[in-house]
Amino acid sequence: MIDENHIYTISSDIEFSKFNENEYLLHNLQLNKYTKLNEKYYDLLSLVDGNKTLSEIQREFQELNKIPLSQDQIESLFGQLNKYGVFGHSDSIKENIKIPNYIKFGFIFLKSELVSKIVPFLSFLFKKSVYIPLFILSVIVFSFNLYINYHDYRELNIGKIFPYFMMLAFSSIIFHELGHATASHHFKAKHGGIGFGFFIYFIPVFFADVTDIWRLNRWKRIIVNSAGVYFEIIFCLTLSIIGFFTKNQTIEILALVIAGKALYNLLPFLRADGYWILSDLLNKPNLNFHSINNLKLTVTSFFKRKKQNLDIKDYFIAFYGLFNIMLIGAFFYYQIILNRDSIIRFPLTVLNIITSAYHGGFTMSFNELVKSLSVLIFYILSIKILFGFGKKLLKSFF
Ligand SMILES: [Zn+2]
Repeated sequence: MIDENHIYTISSDIEFSKFNENEYLLHNLQLNKYTKLNEKYYDLLSLVDGNKTLSEIQREFQELNKIPLSQDQIESLFGQLNKYGVFGHSDSIKENIKIPNYIKFGFIFLKSELVSKIVPFLSFLFKKSVYIPLFILSVIVFSFNLYINYHDYRELNIGKIFPYFMMLAFSSIIFHELGHATASHHFKAKHGGIGFGFFIYFIPVFFADVTDIWRLNRWKRIIVNSAGVYFEIIFCLTLSIIGFFTKNQTIEILALVIAGKALYNLLPFLRADGYWILSDLLNKPNLNFHSINNLKLTVTSFFKRKKQNLDIKDYFIAFYGLFNIMLIGAFFYYQIILNRDSIIRFPLTVLNIITSAYHGGFTMSFNELVKSLSVLIFYILSIKILFGFGKKLLKSFF
């Protein structure tokens, strides 16, 4: 509750920035909530210093601005701001850790202070005179690399290469996340640290906190979202060149594999970088919703011969939705038709894994691991879909 004798402090999670001529943006870093404030509101908040009571703030504001502000008004204003977690107690200053809410068990391993020491040195990579030659060089080097290795039939010892692959892939991902952070720094948006966590509880993901790019314009956001892949390409370009000069085929091939893995991020399906790039390009924040909605509209206009107001962009978004559905359909087809045995055996497999892990030893080949993971994804998707249907069914009854 708002109390006139209470001494307010601004929470350490709050950050202000100028939005335009007469508005400020208030950002709660912990809750990741934004709200706009006008100048007067901002002036009022700047009187909150951790020493004054609400009544004192009210009096001072009236004296400074020569406008009346009643007790009721200030209480309702502070009540509204409270919803954004604006006020805190000075003894509860938390460290500023931001982890996206779709990531579970996440933690930051490169703190924002460290990242901000690195990114100024990499900022030059976003100059036109640097990225255009680098882009042309990449196309030439990767084509050449692919050409010579495609026609080389030497056997590769996958087992021996694997640890190197993991090491280089890990470095590449760190570089990828630094790319997002450097691009935000380049456009003067704030960035946080770099972290690791799990998506849907079991898919390991790395992330760079760049939620502040919300304030940037569309094209700048697209560059920030593409910057991860751009940095990985630079990483693989360097690897390729090292491979050529040392005549080391393993390095050359690893450069190609990792570059392929990096480009995979540009696919808009799944919530990877490509999703955010496409959603910015089409200016549709809630792309998945619109894609399904436009698809429904397209289908009804086709079958019921009802005219819908859809333009080329809407049809494209509908097509995107259709492609997503087909992709999920293909996955289910593969699992149910071709992988049926593994699905039926899965509960037993899980039990086996648990009991054998409990008794000490547990081994699994990489191939087996990949297969079990795909069955696990099948189960999770099925549960999610059934859960969604169940909710709709319940809603229609009550
Ligand atoms: Zn990324």
